[in-house]
Amino acid sequence: MTKTLEPGLYIVATPIGNLSDLSSRAADILKQADVIAVEDSRVTGKLLNHLGIKRPMTPYHDHVAEGVRPALVARMASEAVALVSDAGTPLISDPGYKLVRDARAAGHAVTTIPGPCAAIAALTLAGLPTDRFLFVGFLPSKAKARAEAIAEISAIRATLILYESGPRLGATLAALASGLGDREAAVAREISKMFEECVTGTLSSLSQRYADAPPKGEIVIIVSPPRQEAAVTDEAMIDAALREALSRLPPAKAVGEVSKAMKLDRQELYARAMALQGK
Ligand code: SAM
Repeated sequence: MTKTLEPGLYIVATPIGNLSDLSSRAADILKQADVIAVEDSRVTGKLLNHLGIKRPMTPYHDHVAEGVRPALVARMASEAVALVSDAGTPLISDPGYKLVRDARAAGHAVTTIPGPCAAIAALTLAGLPTDRFLFVGFLPSKAKARAEAIAEISAIRATLILYESGPRLGATLAALASGLGDREAAVAREISKMFEECVTGTLSSLSQRYADAPPKGEIVIIVSPPRQEAAVTDEAMIDAALREALSRLPPAKAVGEVSKAMKLDRQELYARAMALQGK
C-alpha cells in the first residue's frame, strides 16, 4: 500500500521526450499529490493520462506566478503540492525558484525528485569536457544584447551549455563563433525522441551548416572551454613575470608589482610566488 505524502513542496522532474524516462518515484509523487502546479495543463494532462493518473492541477507559470504563489505556499502547510514544468527539471529555464524560496521561508518541507534535464543530457552526448560547465540558458534574442552576453562569458574556463530554438540556431552559432573564437561545439537536438541527433564540429562549421537550414525541434548547444594552449601561455607569462620580479624584489613587493601590472588577484599571485620559490 502506498503511504500518504507528507505536506510540503515536491519538485518533480518529468521526461524531455521519452515518457519512459519518468521515474517510478516521480509517478508515485504525482499519483499522491493533493495538487500539481503546472506550466500548461494540456501538456501535463497528457502525461497524467499516459500514467493513468487523475489529480487536480493548478497553473504556475510566468504570467500568474506572482499572484498565485502565496496561496500555493499556504496550502503546503497541510497538503502535498507537486511542481512540474512542461518538460524536464522545474526551475531550470523554467519557473519555480521563488516558490522554493517562499516555501522554505514559510518553514515547509521541500523535496526534489531528480530526473531528466536537457542541459545535462546534452552534456553527456557532446564529448566535450564535463569537469566544469556553465549553464547559460537562453541568450537574449536581440543581436547587441546577445553579443554582450557572449562577451561576458568569453573568458570563463568551462564548457558552456545553452538552450536554443531551431529558427535562431544559425544566428546564435555565428554570434558564438565571433564572440568566443572558433571553438569545438555540439548541437544536440530532440534528445530522447525519435529524431535525436548530436552534431559536432567547430562553431563556424556548425553555423554554416545551420545558416540556411534551421532544424526543427528542441536544441541544446554545447561549447568547449577556451583553448588550453592559451591558458598555458597565460600561466607561463604570469610565472615569467613573477620570476623576474622575485629576482629583484622581496616576495610581497614582487607580487604587488605583478598584480598591478597584470591586473591579477594579489592573494592568488602570492600563493603562486611561494610555489615558484618551493615554499
Ligand atoms: N526545464 C527544462 C530542462 O530541464 O531541460 C528546460 C526548459 S526550457 C523552457 C526548454 C528548452 O530546453 C528547449 O528550448 C530546448 O533548448 C531544451 N530542451 C528541452 N527538451 C529538449 C530535448 N528533448 N532535446 C533538446 N533540447 C531540449
